Amino acid sequence: MANLADENKFFADVCKNFDSAAQFTNHPEGLLNQIKTCNSVYRFQFPIRRGNGFEVIDAWRVEHSHHMSPTKGGIRYSEMVNEDEVMALAALMTYKCAIVNVPFGGAKGGIKINTKQYSVAELETITRRYTTELIKKNFIGPGIDVPAPDYGSGEREMSWIADTYMTMNPGQLDALGCVTGKPIALHGIRGRKEATGRGVAYAVRECVEVAEDMAKLGFKAGLGDKRVIVQGLGNVGYHSAKFLSEFGATIVGLCEFEGAIYNPDGLNVDEVFAHRKNTGSILDFPGATSFKNSMEGLEQDCDIIVPAALENQFTELNIRNIKAKIIAEGANGPTTPEAEAIFTEMGGIIIPDMYCNAGGVTVSYFEWLKNLSHVAFGRMENRYAANSNANLINTLENLTGKTILPEHRLMIVKGASEMELVNSGLEDTMIHSYHEIRETLMTKPGTKTLRTAAFVNSIDKIAVSYMNLGVWP
Ligand code: NAD
Repeated sequence: MANLADENKFFADVCKNFDSAAQFTNHPEGLLNQIKTCNSVYRFQFPIRRGNGFEVIDAWRVEHSHHMSPTKGGIRYSEMVNEDEVMALAALMTYKCAIVNVPFGGAKGGIKINTKQYSVAELETITRRYTTELIKKNFIGPGIDVPAPDYGSGEREMSWIADTYMTMNPGQLDALGCVTGKPIALHGIRGRKEATGRGVAYAVRECVEVAEDMAKLGFKAGLGDKRVIVQGLGNVGYHSAKFLSEFGATIVGLCEFEGAIYNPDGLNVDEVFAHRKNTGSILDFPGATSFKNSMEGLEQDCDIIVPAALENQFTELNIRNIKAKIIAEGANGPTTPEAEAIFTEMGGIIIPDMYCNAGGVTVSYFEWLKNLSHVAFGRMENRYAANSNANLINTLENLTGKTILPEHRLMIVKGASEMELVNSGLEDTMIHSYHEIRETLMTKPGTKTLRTAAFVNSIDKIAVSYMNLGVWP
């Protein structure tokens, strides 16, 4: 877990990874420094009324890179959040967007609270006041900076943000595009909630499909025989586990802050989720071994680990105890550079956060496009496609005298729904980006890790944007 000693290390770690990759590019040092630096760091405090008195809340919004507008990134609600962390997460957003070809600069927000200690009304007050402070400084808007959910926040908080922004910007036609991750009723997009976890599952599937890479780990290609441990049963962790098991992997371990459970025969993620809801803990799930120390859960036998909680989970102190050969970073920054060096030396593969968890921002981009175009994907074409397909099938049946089975007809005839279009766009993005990164790894000698290769691609794309902006000669 992050501790005080780590407090000023996360952004430095991101910069260290950037520097390792920068040596494989040909850009001038000044341009590299411009890409690396945080363009705007806004730290603010505001009061809320609590009980009989007041409490002052610490908050941040960091816009890491203005090479594209708007900037984009989630808001973290956590008592451990600090300026260094928000800067690091904002920087990761810049690189992430470039990797998956989403035309945004990176940003991140932080509100330093433990959400469990506040009532819903207080959380609403905090979120609305935070939004107001951003509006006052021009740090939010569909063409300026577009927040999204992160650790400790979700659809509910995003709808408060949207409502506050719309109230203070009456008549602004594109106002709903000021934030993503909204509920469907507020013009969010189908598939956004599960997008990050679904994207993690696509990333892992793509990685294990490459027979040549799996052979080096002593694995067969494919997910069918892979055993997975997931840390964090929140949005990213739950959906990663759910989709990985849908794609054929076996979830053998789950870790939460109260402890961990392990069953080599497999765990049903929804049953564990229900057990936690009923008992308040994942511990004592029937048939599984329980560990009070959550970290012990990560050290159990498995092939793949998906950290999906917080940063700095794997350090030089614990990485050698990890049995998995693949770490798929659902969370941002779960592996320190020191731990990565050791894990790579041990022969392991890390699917880096900046690619692995990019499903969220990819579908947020689709939501933003939906808000700007004011129409749901598929709404205009769905019925037309279904009718055209039906006409085609009818004509074929008439010409051939043969009849297609009703279930086949249904499959061929139907038009694509918003959810299907979103998932297909996400799947395509994750597949394409994985192979783009792997291609760099294979063709640039010395890059050694998928993270370095991902950074190289990202730096190259951002450098081109700066040059096209005329900022650099
Ligand atoms: P969340 O709040 O929904 O879930 C986090 C979960 O982790 C919670 O269930 C929490 O109890 C658990 N947890 C906390 N400390 C833990 C510990 N020490 N051991 C095990 N479990 C622990 O948050 P989330 O949105 O799922 O985000 C998780 C990570 O994924 C963060 O690093 C976030 O930045 C990253 N991320 C999230 C998104 C997104 O769309 N939500 C997108 C990209 C990256």
